[in-house]
Amino acid sequence: MANGHSTDVRLKDNPYVTELGGGYIRNADGQEVRIICHRKSRPAIARFLEKIRVSEILFHNGTPCWEWIGCKTKIGYGQFKPDGRRGAVLSNPHRFAHEYFIGPIPEGWEDDHLCQVRHCCNPLHLEAVTLQVNRKRRDESKTHCKRNHPLSGDNVRVANNKRYCRACGRQRGREFLARNPGYEKRMQFPSRQKPNNIIPNDDAT
Ligand SMILES: [Zn+2]
Ligand SMILES: [Zn+2]
Repeated sequence: MANGHSTDVRLKDNPYVTELGGGYIRNADGQEVRIICHRKSRPAIARFLEKIRVSEILFHNGTPCWEWIGCKTKIGYGQFKPDGRRGAVLSNPHRFAHEYFIGPIPEGWEDDHLCQVRHCCNPLHLEAVTLQVNRKRRDESKTHCKRNHPLSGDNVRVANNKRYCRACGRQRGREFLARNPGYEKRMQFPSRQKPNNIIPNDDAT
């Protein structure tokens, strides 16, 4: 039986719903809902272009960013359903722009925003790269660590293809020793201690 909910789900060629007749459908979640209107599905490119604003302040190589003014994730990437129907996969507008204007993105690859603007959808600002390359580029683009030490010269330690801040490493070491009193002493081998470092035992005297 219908549960009283209603929907404006688009029915034409929609594999996620079943028509039950009498103005009811079964939706992607298995509920029976009443149809309140038959909205036609508009082409993805039309829905995409409606949510694009050509930026007047953000540029890359002389071309403006196409700012996404629709939904965004918490970290600032746009959200877009190329297939606008209920239950369809949620993707990103920059991925849609890449596939529409440039061509398919290889399986498992992602877009690098060359302009560093996460909600930009200008295909000229996008380059499909592997996750490893994208991560490496993001790492190399950092000039300072999160505590604002410069990531250059002697302060950089390279390990696992990643650059680490030496000042932060020393700071972490000091914080660890402050939390774990006696750790340093336990870790020292007696053979490494110089004789004048051995503290005389007061009880013995
Ligand atoms: Zn851009
Ligand atoms: Zn640091």
